[in-house]
Amino acid sequence: MSSEETKGASNVAPLRKTVPCPECKRPSHREHYPFCSDRCRNVDLNRWLKGSYAIPVADDESKANDDE
Ligand SMILES: [Zn+2]
Repeated sequence: MSSEETKGASNVAPLRKTVPCPECKRPSHREHYPFCSDRCRNVDLNRWLKGSYAIPVADDESKANDDE
């Protein structure tokens, strides 16, 4: 607990506490919170989209063909 650090605000104004970027663990950027950059945000978004598409749902074709 050092009150001296809060006094000397020589750094960038801490508007929001930074968190480690979910992608690369770098400090997050407030413009891309909680990611460090727009790139990392897209990476995460793409993985999320792919993940939802990867769920096997289409099982109709194999069944429709099973008619011997
Ligand atoms: Zn990142």
